[in-house]
Amino acid sequence: MTTQAKESLKLYIAGEWVDAADGNVRDVFNPATGEVIAVVAEAGLEDVRRAIAEARRVFDETDWQDTPPHERARLLNALADKLDERADEFARLETENNGKPLRESLPDVADAANCFRYYAGLINKPLGQTYQVADPMMTMVVREPIGVCGQIVPWNYPLLMAAWKLAPCLAAGNTTVFKPSELTPLTAVKLFELIDEVGFPKGVANLVMGAGNVVGHELAASDQIDKVAFTGGTATGRSIMQTATGNLKNISLELGGKSPHIIFADADFEAALEYAMFGIFANQGQVCSAGSRLLVEDALFDRFIEALVERSRKIRVGNGIDELTEMGPLISKAHMEKVLGYIEIGKVEGARLVLGGNPLIEGDYANGNFVEPTIFVDCKPEMRIVQEEIFGPVLTVQRFKTEEEAIRLANDSMYGLAGGVFSQDGAKAMRVIKKLRAGITWINTYHPTYNEAPWGGYKQSGIGRELGTFGLEAYQEVKQINMNLQVGPMGWYNND
Ligand code: NAD
Repeated sequence: MTTQAKESLKLYIAGEWVDAADGNVRDVFNPATGEVIAVVAEAGLEDVRRAIAEARRVFDETDWQDTPPHERARLLNALADKLDERADEFARLETENNGKPLRESLPDVADAANCFRYYAGLINKPLGQTYQVADPMMTMVVREPIGVCGQIVPWNYPLLMAAWKLAPCLAAGNTTVFKPSELTPLTAVKLFELIDEVGFPKGVANLVMGAGNVVGHELAASDQIDKVAFTGGTATGRSIMQTATGNLKNISLELGGKSPHIIFADADFEAALEYAMFGIFANQGQVCSAGSRLLVEDALFDRFIEALVERSRKIRVGNGIDELTEMGPLISKAHMEKVLGYIEIGKVEGARLVLGGNPLIEGDYANGNFVEPTIFVDCKPEMRIVQEEIFGPVLTVQRFKTEEEAIRLANDSMYGLAGGVFSQDGAKAMRVIKKLRAGITWINTYHPTYNEAPWGGYKQSGIGRELGTFGLEAYQEVKQINMNLQVGPMGWYNND
């Protein structure tokens, strides 16, 4: 962090762009080149508390929560349209700040726009229920906003995670204090410029950039906040859950994963091969749902791994801004060191490295955080590289002989976020998927994610679901209203 006065991007609190109260700023880097590409205001406790107070005031004292749903939908649709109009600019900025190839940033922007559009549509639809419980009583169930939300996201999908958080939250009529990762705040700043431009009332959505253990911690701790929604690592999620107990706030956690990708011998070979690569090397493996544990049936094993290694060797690693690049840099030097550390652990544990394993440090790679696509075979269930989330381009491969063994290996994890199966035997694929203890699963594909379908994990991969109707419900309280249709004394007390 630096503290000298530079022109910096600002916090957005109460509808105004402001510096941090103490003037602190933070450098933001391009992970492909190591260059400082922006300086952003670094909020402290005073700033986040002011943002929370403002979100509280707007929720409690203005008519935002009672705005007609079609008006909130209009704002969300306007935001989606503006994102689409400026998709190229957003995608380039995402690539410069996060490192992911442009061919991934562009669909991320489109998905983000569609997420705002999806919740704009959903909020107009009937979501309540009525029951005829007993004559002369009528019972209704209505949904209401939860209140003030604290929303915290990681660096791997900066814009998309912002959309997943903000769209249902605002559609439902909540107010929010949103915190991007300190490493990747730039598309969030641009998104809030659009939020300002389309005319969301001041103080409904607030942007506070800053450290996790200061700003993030306060969002989890403050008793002025009704819900904390977090996406990030499992250890951080656990600490947020503990911090949030003070006022027993509503909580959503989208955490880490170590997801199994099962390839049966009867799979479509070319399709399974490409999706196995995409499962682990998309976004440099920095994907919570990455298919980082490949399980391959014995009868196919040697032929499949040979082809996988040959194809993966040819992946074009480079600066994501080059349209030909297929894999970019890791997010930071510290994260690169962590990933390289795991590669060393894998070697010591006795896994056999069949591809990669090194940082790329020559020429154009010199100042970036590049690591080769890496594949380990002969992996055993108890190895740390099999059990722990590496969050980089490192694939572990295990061999199985039977359907039962595949299921047992697949479920041998503290995580339960995602999983995939490749087989041309539909019934077998469905049997295996049904047995996976995971919230997001794929048959004969890997990674496609839809705004319409719920996203979230079993076990230590999280609590709750984002996206789909579940994602809206996560930002709503449920109230029952019982109405007597024949008003008169009850006749319970007859002592007169
Ligand atoms: P992280 O947990 O380090 O940080 C995530 C966010 O939490 C950041 O904004 C950070 O500033 C903030 N934070 C850190 N400490 C905090 C604290 N004590 N209190 C409150 N906030 C705090 O995670 P990361 O390294 O940014 O992201 C990688 C992790 O995110 C991986 O484990 C990945 O699996 C997970 N992830 C999960 C999903 C999902 O949908 N399940 C999606 C994307 C990423």
